[in-house]
Amino acid sequence: MQRYSAFAIAREALRHHTGWQRAWRSPEPKRRYDTIIIGAGGHGLATAYWLGKLYGIRDVAVIEKGWLGGGNTGRNTTIIRSNYLQDPSAAIYEKSRSLYETMSQDINYNVMFSPRGVLMLAQTEAEARGYRRTAHANALQGVETQFVSSWRVKQLCPIISLEGPRYPVLGALWQPRAGTARHDAVAWGYARACSDMGMDIIQKCEVTGIRSEGGQVTGVSTTRGEIECDRLGIVVAGHSGALADMAGFRLPIESVALQALVSEPIKPAMDVVVMANTVHGYMSQSDKGEMVIGGGADGYNNYTQRGSFHHIEETVRALVETFPMISRLKMLRQWGGIVDMTGDRSPIISKTPLGNCFINCGWGTGGFKAVPGSGWAMAELMAKGQSPLAEAFTLDRFREGRFIDESVAAGVAH
Ligand SMILES: Cc1cc2nc3c(=O)[nH]c(=O)nc-3n(C[C@H](O)[C@H](O)[C@H](O)COP(=O)(O)OP(=O)(O)OC[C@H]3O[C@@H](n4cnc5c(N)ncnc54)[C@H](O)[C@@H]3O)c2cc1C
Repeated sequence: MQRYSAFAIAREALRHHTGWQRAWRSPEPKRRYDTIIIGAGGHGLATAYWLGKLYGIRDVAVIEKGWLGGGNTGRNTTIIRSNYLQDPSAAIYEKSRSLYETMSQDINYNVMFSPRGVLMLAQTEAEARGYRRTAHANALQGVETQFVSSWRVKQLCPIISLEGPRYPVLGALWQPRAGTARHDAVAWGYARACSDMGMDIIQKCEVTGIRSEGGQVTGVSTTRGEIECDRLGIVVAGHSGALADMAGFRLPIESVALQALVSEPIKPAMDVVVMANTVHGYMSQSDKGEMVIGGGADGYNNYTQRGSFHHIEETVRALVETFPMISRLKMLRQWGGIVDMTGDRSPIISKTPLGNCFINCGWGTGGFKAVPGSGWAMAELMAKGQSPLAEAFTLDRFREGRFIDESVAAGVAH
């Protein structure tokens, strides 16, 4: 792989950028692989990356029905944080956040990780109590967060209105090392690193069936033919229910649309991420100057990748009352993704009833932040049959009642 560096940019500038190689290969699918991962989103690609990097498993195909990163990975609002309440969640999200810190160096691809800090506003007494509790839990888990006063909130984000027409800002849960990263770059960087390890990333290839014999997975049927494998990872977010159906089991999961929008670019106005969960909206400013805005998920199941109009109105109303100065901004684009929601708002990283078939899903509205850690755990599970980071997130927990309730940390918040 050609290394990216300041020197490489200077060299290419001198020869009119004629020497850049393609970032990843576009191979024809082989008839057989040791391992197939379905879904070239962040989680699928990170799984393949760690399989190769940590366990030397490189006879891998990542199969994608569209283009890589074209699912939720390229549609999210890029917030990265690890201030969850329950211990298993804090462990995997903090592992992930710490992997983001060095990701650009690890994969030699600038993912523009920006640990600018995330504020989660407390706008009712109950919310303030809840966030104080989370700050205490995070202290025990080794995750650096603090409950800060409204005065400090104003200092960190001067454009905020503390009084609000309905809910005053009483304080906030502040995670200084949380932030954002460039979502496409995460997918592209992992794809490049996987391709460099000899893995095949096969785009425009939809999996239409999962084949098995004697209770063990044997391969997949795709729009580009049959492909055999010894091990299969299903990592398809909002389409998990459909793929599980092909493999012969059911998932406790619902697929709903979640949407986001960006404004016209403006001069730098805020250098932190702010989430206002009581009024249902959150905002950050991209490097280009656009205000990146998100809100709640649609209240009904669907696969439209669009989102409903009334949610845009709700989200904009929430943010105008939190940041009155944005009321005259023009909105440039709106889009939606299909997120996979479990009842306890925690993910599933698990073996399945089909032998050698594994699933990673249920990240719902907040899985971008988990990409490197989730891939790490899924790769360990697929390579060794167990993973300490993943062991609380098995499918069995729904049958056994071992829920990991993150509805407060993940209900709106991304
Ligand atoms: C609007 C929005 C805002 C969000 N904001 C945040 C945020 O700020 N922070 C955060 O942490 N998370 C956020 N999320 C959630 C986050 O984007 C997801 O949890 C995460 O990207 C899921 O990644 P993934 O790799 O599992 O799924 P995806 O990126 O969706 O990848 C799954 C891939 O599987 C492919 N696929 C599906 N079916 C098949 C098939 N049959 N054959 C082959 N391929 C198939 C799809 O085409 C897709 O590319 C947001 C999501 C949305 C929609």
